[in-house]
Amino acid sequence: PARTRFAPSPTGYLHLGSLRTALFNYLLAKRTGGQFLLRIEDTDQKRTVWDAEERLFRDLQWAGLQWDEGPGVGGPYGPYKQSERSEMYQEHARKLLDTGHGYRCFCSTTRLNELAQHRHALGVATDYDRRCGGIPKEESDDRASRGEHHVVRLKVDSYPKYEDLIYGTFTPLKQWRRGEDVYEDPILLKSDGLPTYHLANVVDDHYMKITHVIRGSEWMPSTPKHIALYDAFGWTPPAFAHVGLLVDEQGNKLSKRNFDTDISAFKEMEIFPETLTNFAALLGWSHPNKSDVMDLAKLVEEFTLKFTKGNTTVTFEKMHFLQRKHALARAKDGGPKLQEMVQAVVRVLKDPISQYELPAKFDKKHALEKYVEKVILADSENYTNANEYVYRNAYMFKLIPSKPLPSDATGLSKQAADRLSEVHDWNKEALTKKIWEIIQGDEANKSADVFHYLREKLTGEKNGMRIYELMILLGRDECLRRLGVEM
Ligand code: GLU
Repeated sequence: PARTRFAPSPTGYLHLGSLRTALFNYLLAKRTGGQFLLRIEDTDQKRTVWDAEERLFRDLQWAGLQWDEGPGVGGPYGPYKQSERSEMYQEHARKLLDTGHGYRCFCSTTRLNELAQHRHALGVATDYDRRCGGIPKEESDDRASRGEHHVVRLKVDSYPKYEDLIYGTFTPLKQWRRGEDVYEDPILLKSDGLPTYHLANVVDDHYMKITHVIRGSEWMPSTPKHIALYDAFGWTPPAFAHVGLLVDEQGNKLSKRNFDTDISAFKEMEIFPETLTNFAALLGWSHPNKSDVMDLAKLVEEFTLKFTKGNTTVTFEKMHFLQRKHALARAKDGGPKLQEMVQAVVRVLKDPISQYELPAKFDKKHALEKYVEKVILADSENYTNANEYVYRNAYMFKLIPSKPLPSDATGLSKQAADRLSEVHDWNKEALTKKIWEIIQGDEANKSADVFHYLREKLTGEKNGMRIYELMILLGRDECLRRLGVEM
């Protein structure tokens, strides 16, 4: 069983990319009968967004990604919020100082900035020249005890290769520093005593017994540092699987400008959670299933760590396709999720802004709900969201004025109107029979003409729901009225 985690920083909201990361971790845990953890990485307090944490919880839960351990749930290895674990990180930094795997660095920001500038001028790849690496232990302890400002760095002589589950052998320096053989001693503890991402992330993954880390490929350059840190502690690192970034059709990383807005934007569009998790899962993951349409439970069943290397282009047509498929599934299932759709449509119809003048027969209790449910069931594969649905099927809900047949009406119109009024049991069988009689009648009408005629008279539209279904839903009186039969 895998223990995985989603470790967001509350510096922003959940967006498509981070939802996908969370989802893959969730799926692996569930697929293997393991646990999915949520950990809040709030070491960068300055960048914290006040409501980010709350919204992360809400959005993950909305998507169905309930964590087994983490904030609000607890668990054996908490707290699950890094700002509540400071002492633990400090203690581990001290351990590294004691074993010689770490050292204090007293260099001023000014000096480090100069180094960075120098580095650019000389084209040298290292960030730090290790000046403090040679300070004897006693001197270092002494300066620290006198309160001199310092950070703690990890001493790394070479960065190990590692096997990425997706990318294969990752040789850090060659890939990361364009082949230059340089080292960098990453900072573990900042001068305010708070840990950096590297230290906190590794300590937590170790003590939380994480077996697999699935995260965005933007973290790949950090992974060798993490592995060096595991080595320094004498711990076994988890397995790493990096997944490519999400990009738009021009190859730009998804950002606010090209729709990688937070998940609430999808909620506002009334995209179903199962649509969004289905859509996110397909971004860079390949599966052997015949159909791409999978709810969360199905995704769990099918999940394997089969990702494409490299970035994934996101286009949203697929999401809308999946939405219609999941609408169909909800309708077939007939459960509470169908009722959610019914309620959403009823809200639109009753909203004064949408200006629907509903026929009086809907005044009766639940009459509208019952009718809306039938309409949805008749056309669920075209459901995208309530507003669009009502717009598409507007003729099912409003009063369409009847236009009496002109007295000189002949041909198709007269036949259709008159002969349909002969049907008293308004069901599919009887209607089919009568309509085919009309088609084959004296006037030798073409079937397409008859159907187009009926549709236009009944709905005022050229396209829409299947003709028999809409006739049955509208009912005999309403159909005959719309066809202009005087009754
Ligand atoms: N806190 C990091 C983030 O915000 C976590 C990266 C990781 O998964 O190690 O993405």
